[in-house]
Amino acid sequence: MDTIPNSPAARDIAYFFHPVTNARRHEQVGPRIIERGKGIYVYDDQGREYIEALAGLWSVAIGFGEPRLAKAAAAQMEKLPYYHSFSHKSHMPGIELSERLVKMAPVKMSKVFYTNSGSEANDTAVKLVWYYNNAIGRPNKKKIISRIKAYHGITIGAGSLTGLPLNHRDFDLPIANILHTCCPHYYRFGRDGESEEDFATRMAQDLEDLILREGPDTVAAFIGEPLMGAGGVIVPPKTYWEKIQKVCRKYDLLIIADEVINGFGRTGKTFACETFGIKPDMMVLSKAITSSYQPLAAVLFTDQIYQAVADNTNKIGAFGHGFTASAHPVVLAVAMENLNIIEERKLIQNAAAMAPVLQDGLRKLSAHPLVGEVRGLGLIAAVELVADKATKRPFDPIGKVGNWVFERAHDHGLIVRAIGDSIAFCPPLIIDAAQIGEMISRFRKTLDDAQAWIRQQG
Ligand code: PMP
Repeated sequence: MDTIPNSPAARDIAYFFHPVTNARRHEQVGPRIIERGKGIYVYDDQGREYIEALAGLWSVAIGFGEPRLAKAAAAQMEKLPYYHSFSHKSHMPGIELSERLVKMAPVKMSKVFYTNSGSEANDTAVKLVWYYNNAIGRPNKKKIISRIKAYHGITIGAGSLTGLPLNHRDFDLPIANILHTCCPHYYRFGRDGESEEDFATRMAQDLEDLILREGPDTVAAFIGEPLMGAGGVIVPPKTYWEKIQKVCRKYDLLIIADEVINGFGRTGKTFACETFGIKPDMMVLSKAITSSYQPLAAVLFTDQIYQAVADNTNKIGAFGHGFTASAHPVVLAVAMENLNIIEERKLIQNAAAMAPVLQDGLRKLSAHPLVGEVRGLGLIAAVELVADKATKRPFDPIGKVGNWVFERAHDHGLIVRAIGDSIAFCPPLIIDAAQIGEMISRFRKTLDDAQAWIRQQG
């Protein structure tokens, strides 16, 4: 770390409290300052180049440094830099993007509500579920079921939906009325001799048991990422969503699809609801909607929900929910241009075409002594490292090797994400075959280093 007084690193340590960071360790190692980006690459203040194999935080679909988004933002700033959409006000970016999203949705949706983050969007989804059930005279039907290892954000509501101990511990989460059912990770939680289909049946049975224990009249909704992201890139087992949806319909639960990572091409289709045959009542979108050039998320919901909510607003005066920056016109203008680029450059088709290159390429690492499982779909994947391949025994403590790999990868010009000992890949959708090859080659070198390090440690 650069310890020169008043250096950017020293000032960072002095003033900047970092999200999802070990604060004490940060005081020692300081920041890695990223200065600029181009395509799939970012560059630090020492001029070092990295392949951004996680597209930032699973989000920069069109790649870094796209001037058209800067131009779209500047044009909107000059015309109307800000306006809200409370009390019947509107603006063209709001009208155009809403129409576009409803028309893009894989099932018939009615309306779009905008927030600044995925967390706020999931809070909005929770509030809509509660509001809807109040509106239709079911005030006891309020519990929402999420899953262990789900990631839905970090606000009090969304953080409660999240099913990861780090996001609950010492924050006094989850709040009441949020429950978690099993995580559909076959490699970790499938039983000996159990087929994927049987595992999916057991997952659906666990969900049904939970609903029956709680009382179906008290359970309002099920929320899930079609393919789980930040919990470890967990691809649902075959028939999982079909069976889960059946249970939800049986007990009249709304289905919320959190497409924050999955949406806009990540799984090779526009939405992962198409990939897995999910028919949601609400969809939550973010990240690739602007390629994270601006903060934005959206909640789409069906006409059934809209009609009940609308009647209620008419009774009580207004829908009492909205952010100062909901549907910010500059942000929405950037989203429109980003979606234009995704369409013009056929990035969803590219994701589908590059999927086998990434998935087969990573699966070639399966023979590596550290690799327990390679999983993924489309342009999202994870490689889970284990202490013993035969027994799937994890390293002790979990995360130590993953974190070492995460750190070391930088030396090979690679930015990945470690989730415990699973190393996640989610590159920009613009990536080509040669770049995927280079990314995997940098990762293989890192893995070899890790193996040598583990041997050294004994
Ligand atoms: N849902 C999912 C599936 C996510 O992956 C994330 C963020 N990684 C969120 C919600 C929360 O989004 P934000 O960080 O914008 O609040």
